[in-house]
Amino acid sequence: MKVTQFNVYAKRLPMASGYNMSSAAVGEPDTTIVELVTDTKYVGWGEICPTGPLPQSEHAGSIRADLALLGPALVGLDPRRLGLVHDAMSSTMDGGHGAKSAVDIACWDLAGKAYGERVCDLLGGARMDPVLTYHVVPIGTPEASATVAQALQDQGHTKLQLKAGGRHIDEDIAAIHAVAKVIRPSVDLFVDCNRGWTVGEAIQVSQACKELMLAIEQPCATYAECVFARAHLRHPLLLDESATDLATISQAIGTGVADGFGIKLTRVGGISAMRAIRDLCEASSTPTSCDDSWGGDIIAAACVHVGATLNPNLSRGAWISDPYQIGHYDEEHGPRIVNGTIAIPPGAGLGITIPDGYFGSPIASYS
Ligand SMILES: [Mg+2]
Repeated sequence: MKVTQFNVYAKRLPMASGYNMSSAAVGEPDTTIVELVTDTKYVGWGEICPTGPLPQSEHAGSIRADLALLGPALVGLDPRRLGLVHDAMSSTMDGGHGAKSAVDIACWDLAGKAYGERVCDLLGGARMDPVLTYHVVPIGTPEASATVAQALQDQGHTKLQLKAGGRHIDEDIAAIHAVAKVIRPSVDLFVDCNRGWTVGEAIQVSQACKELMLAIEQPCATYAECVFARAHLRHPLLLDESATDLATISQAIGTGVADGFGIKLTRVGGISAMRAIRDLCEASSTPTSCDDSWGGDIIAAACVHVGATLNPNLSRGAWISDPYQIGHYDEEHGPRIVNGTIAIPPGAGLGITIPDGYFGSPIASYS
């Protein structure tokens, strides 16, 4: 099997509802799709979709510039030989994890289709189906946040992520207490600040909520600030934005900085990198999720396939943006959240079937 053509598509993902983080509101994310056409009947699909230029260091423009470098280097390669694909990408450009991740996902999709196996089975097999997800409680008043949390747990959600940051910490503290008051003991609560607090604010919030059962996710902007805060927090610390790659994650585990992770598939290098992180987390009894920042059915399917292979006792769930956006590339098997869980798409590869011409004309093509 050889890659004969490398196509790149762009698509806006319309929002069904608002989504606010401490750094920015999400509005119609600009997703980038990679299509690997081969000399067989199979094509492979990859995707990467930052929420915008503020929450992450990569954005649609930088990713498409990276893909312009990578595309010509991939034509002629066997996409099933992932080590060789990564060698070719590494020898073409440094960095560019986002673009390389999209290629990696497309190669896994192709390998699965070629071997007649689901991606989760190539990764060792599904240990959960359906896969647990967690749901976001947006930044709001204490009353509004408590109402949303109550409704979500009534729908079956057992893991809730309360967004915080970007306002006075007294408001965050009040919202945390209001949500903690309404959720059942069996529901896991983690407060995700998306880097929005200073070290001092993180410590103050944790102290003010010290009697509550919760974890704090990415309170501060940098890894170093999270290390400083860690010594004074009264709650477990989860790293998300600072968990940038396998080496950093290994360091965070080895030095006791992180009690768990929220891993974004396309930040760390795709399914291949996430497989190594999954195994490292399991070997060190460290909880992790398998998420991405945003994206359509391709990203969602990748997260669900990898998320299904996590140790169920250590899984923090797989997050997908399905509830916040309108439409699916694959109306039948595009991943959806039902009662707090997501079914694995059943077909080979990622299990997503995309109608011909769905993304329009490619914005770039290499052959
Ligand atoms: Mg997070």
